[in-house]
This record gives sequence, C-alpha cells and structure tokens, in this order.
Amino acid sequence: MPEPMSCCHLGGGYCERCDLLVGLPGLHVIGVERDDGGAVTVVVESAQGPMGCPACGVVAHRHGRRDVRLVDAPVFGKPATVVWRKRRWRCPEPACPVGVFDEQDETIARPRGLLTVRACWWAIGELRREHASVQGLARRLGTTWRTVWTSIKPLLQAADQDPDRFAGVTRLGVDEHIVRHEALLFRMEVRDLHRLAVAAAG
Ligand SMILES: [Zn+2]
Ligand SMILES: [Zn+2]
Repeated sequence: MPEPMSCCHLGGGYCERCDLLVGLPGLHVIGVERDDGGAVTVVVESAQGPMGCPACGVVAHRHGRRDVRLVDAPVFGKPATVVWRKRRWRCPEPACPVGVFDEQDETIARPRGLLTVRACWWAIGELRREHASVQGLARRLGTTWRTVWTSIKPLLQAADQDPDRFAGVTRLGVDEHIVRHEALLFRMEVRDLHRLAVAAAG
C-alpha cells in the first residue's frame, strides 16, 4: 500500500478533508459523484448516536433511513446536489403522539426544504449584489424558477416581518424592472414580489 491515499470513507470512518471541503456542520461526506456535465452530487450523513424523542424525551429506536435531495450552492462553477441520508427514529412510548420522525437540522435545510439554507442565502446574495434573475439562478443551481422562488420567499418574508434581525443581510437592491420581468414571466403578483424585495432592502 503506497502513501496515505484513501482519505475517504473506505475504512468506515469519516474523512476530515472531505467534510472540511463540503462544510455542512454535523454532517459527514460518504460519497461524491460527478456527472458528464460536471454537476456534483455529495452524499452525507450524521454520525451514529443516541436520539431523544423531540416530544417526550424518551430514547428513540432506529427506524431506517430516508434520502433527502437538496439543491446546494454551486461548487467549482457547477450545480451541486446534497443527498442527506437522514436517519429515521421511532418513539417507543405508546402514549407519545410523535411516532416515527426524521433527523432535522434547520441550519442545514428547512424540514421540507428543497434548497440548503446556504443555497438560499447564496441566491439572495446573487440577487442583491449581481442583479441576477431568478431564472438565471435556477439555471446555475440546476433547478427550476419555482423551486428557487419558493425557497427564498420565506426568508424574504421573515426579513419583511423582522427587519432588525436581518439588517445588513438581505439588502436586496433588486431593480424594479427585474422584479416586473420575473412577475410577468411567471404571472406573479408584482406588488407582492416588489414589496418583499423592497422590505428586505430595508
Ligand atoms: Zn476525503
Ligand atoms: Zn415520544
């Protein structure tokens, strides 16, 4: 066996270098693929460990896995997908209403989110600083306009409702003509879109 070459998952452990490169706290890289077009898919999981039921606190039993695909921010100029091999758990307490539940980490992605949180903020940053269109962002992310918009809209609404918390983060600077263009293309309510953009710009 030559020099240390297999930094990655071969021994069953995790690879610090791959984890550092991908940068999703609490998750470890267990596989990477690149398709013919260069798009990257990274498979991640959390380390095995005990889990308490979020409702009653009883130690939950393992209940298999569920692969969740998330659009992530582009990597090395190409679209990226994260496949999170979420652990599933079952609360053994008969009186507890929770039953089976999935691993969640809202710093990584919202519970039914389609984009990672960092991909949402990347998209908002591109709208703000680069005057990107949502359609252009969708192309760079390898997804659809609707997926991008439904993913960033809750963050813009949160900024709208709590501008102090988001001050300096979501100053959008979205040109009105871009907003109108997006709205016309997708028959959205101009006032709604524009209100969010302006509110987020503080
Ligand atoms: Zn590695
Ligand atoms: Zn429970």
